[in-house]
Amino acid sequence: MMGLLDQGGYRVSSNPSEASLVVVNTCSFIQEAREESVRALVDLAEKDKQIIIAGCLAQHFQEDLLNSIPEAKAIIGTGDYHHILQVLQRIEKGEIVNKVSQIPTFVGDENLPRYRKRGEFVSYLKVAEGCDYNCAFCIIPRLRGKQRSRSIESIISEANQLAKKGVKELILISQITTNYGLDIYGKPCLDELLRALGNVDIPWIRVHYAYPTGLTSEVIQAFKDVHNILPYFDLPLQHSHPDVLKAMNRPWQLDLNTDLLERIRNQLPDSIFRTSLIVGFPGETEMHFNHLVSFIEKQEFDHIGVFTFSSEEGTKAANLPNQVPSSIAQARKDKIISIQQPIAEKKNQAWIGRTVDFLIERIDQDTGELVGRCSRFAPEVDGLVRIKYDLRSTKLIPGMMIPALITGSDLYDLTGKVITTKEMVFSARNNY
Ligand code: SF4
Repeated sequence: MMGLLDQGGYRVSSNPSEASLVVVNTCSFIQEAREESVRALVDLAEKDKQIIIAGCLAQHFQEDLLNSIPEAKAIIGTGDYHHILQVLQRIEKGEIVNKVSQIPTFVGDENLPRYRKRGEFVSYLKVAEGCDYNCAFCIIPRLRGKQRSRSIESIISEANQLAKKGVKELILISQITTNYGLDIYGKPCLDELLRALGNVDIPWIRVHYAYPTGLTSEVIQAFKDVHNILPYFDLPLQHSHPDVLKAMNRPWQLDLNTDLLERIRNQLPDSIFRTSLIVGFPGETEMHFNHLVSFIEKQEFDHIGVFTFSSEEGTKAANLPNQVPSSIAQARKDKIISIQQPIAEKKNQAWIGRTVDFLIERIDQDTGELVGRCSRFAPEVDGLVRIKYDLRSTKLIPGMMIPALITGSDLYDLTGKVITTKEMVFSARNNY
């Protein structure tokens, strides 16, 4: 939408106070996200901003939402964002616009313009939209429609355009990235896509949202073979106990998740693992929860996101018996966090002494540090690497990728130092 607005001659700002009209791209995945979206809308309405409500909340509540916020000039559905310019033109004529397709079918391609802010070196690239699965807790298929993948050619063409613009890290996203291609090629083709991306001049390509059964040996092999695909596995496993997984309508076969992690570790010992978990799913007993606790203690994930179950109207899980009281779900969430913290700290510590590629993302003038990441951390969800640096020097600037030695760690972040070529060779010899 930003790309289209920019191309259409509008001045785009990420600061709402500079804008006469604000487009809010909303989330409606769970109650908490809806509350956050509505808070943002009310806040803008109180500041007398004109508002366009886009995304999942608009898709979910449609005309009701439009009627509840008089400052809202339009709603745009999840499959309608490419109409942003026409919607804006209609608003300028005084119309109130409802642009929500009942069944979203659109997926963007390489011809949609992209807006990149100066100093941004990471780009998300949507490889498919929608989901054909039916996890019992999830409302996404209703809000985003059936899966529709882009062709490999379209994705590669956009990736090449982004490479030319200086992007250093590309993050492949969709609702279920391991199912990429199934709808258009008759079989999942993530392995082929990854191999094709090996020819794109972007040093880091990261895959988000891998469904456990989709990490076939072909896909893992592609992770291993293709030089710029990071061995970073974002696996939303949700739980470990087969009873709970079965009730969630997720792959539940005994030890499936354990086997998968073992297979990946055997092939790519240096892999980084992130997972997300749901606690307090209906029917989750102490026994099920203890199974999850043992699982995370044993598997030692690098990064975990844990959520309490949110009962979503229109999903199967909302009507399941044995709903878990929210106080118990919250206590379970707290317990998972307290178990994971020392694991995360230990995992971070293990990076001390390693030489890494460090992507400089910004310079912190207050602390005199270069701030960025190494491949261990995905943007926005994981930690950062901070490096003390003489800011009078102009040699190092954001967007550069340089070798750095990790010298310190805490619970979430790493610290390091820039190393010379000589030191780099020395460290390589010693690690060999
Ligand atoms: S695979 Fe992901 S998007 Fe699809 S239904 Fe399950 S949780 Fe929702």
